[in-house]
Amino acid sequence: MKPFKLAARESHEGDTLIEINSSRGTVKIGEGYCTVIAGPCAVEGREEYLSIARALADMGVHLLRGGAFKPRTSPYSFAGLGEEGLKILAEAREVTGLPVVTEVLDTRDVELVLGYVDVLQVGSRNMQNFSLLQEVGRTDKPVILKRGFAATMEEWLLAAEYIMAAGNPRVILCERGIRTFENYTRNTVDIGAVSMIKELSHLPIIVDPSHATGRWKMVRPVAKAAIAAGADGVMIEVHQCPECALSDGKQSLTPENFAVLLEDIKKLAEVEGKKI
Ligand code: PEP
Ligand code: MN
Repeated sequence: MKPFKLAARESHEGDTLIEINSSRGTVKIGEGYCTVIAGPCAVEGREEYLSIARALADMGVHLLRGGAFKPRTSPYSFAGLGEEGLKILAEAREVTGLPVVTEVLDTRDVELVLGYVDVLQVGSRNMQNFSLLQEVGRTDKPVILKRGFAATMEEWLLAAEYIMAAGNPRVILCERGIRTFENYTRNTVDIGAVSMIKELSHLPIIVDPSHATGRWKMVRPVAKAAIAAGADGVMIEVHQCPECALSDGKQSLTPENFAVLLEDIKKLAEVEGKKI
């Protein structure tokens, strides 16, 4: 018997479709759709964020991302603008009409974050923070659950199960690369996980080629591979000036490079029979 129940394929007819309402319409993630999430790693300032948000909305992105609370390896690195960042995200949502997603790092911040954004993100480093999983499970917002960088697929699905068992069925899995012996890339992308998860679960699965590779030049090929492998979408870091970014500049695309990738994604989505 499988250790997970609510997340198991057998517990749901067909694939799950998650709907997020916004003033532009309903954004759909899952069954039959290819969803594109984009934005900078972190919200760095009001003008900067609103400008990239407008550019991405004009290109046709479905959901905006931006971290207000950043999990940084060093305590001396830029850790995000906190509530000020959340306010900027909420303003970007007003201006563009697009829903926004941000990471919640701590159970103590869940209520605060809920007041500003449409989708919560649990990051790789917190995938097994069980009290955080339960806390986001008690909300009514969709949750993007990133795979722990050393987590097996079973552990990842059990983390999803925590959120679902607490009452929230709207979980979106995100493959973001795992740690291996290879160190040319920041992580090693597990493309095979996309099809394995599809076999095991009805939940939507997206791929984050930015954190998975750590190198902007690899983002386009890996994003394409993800869609071809059957992912329900991609999450991509885009920055107006990657070399000036306060975090993850090396893996961020310029808006121009992102526009090129978006055209590829549209073509591939069509081949896969998915709406975009
Ligand atoms: C992020 O998406 O901003 C992030 C920190 O990613 P991860 O948790 O996958 O490292
Ligand atoms: Mn990042």
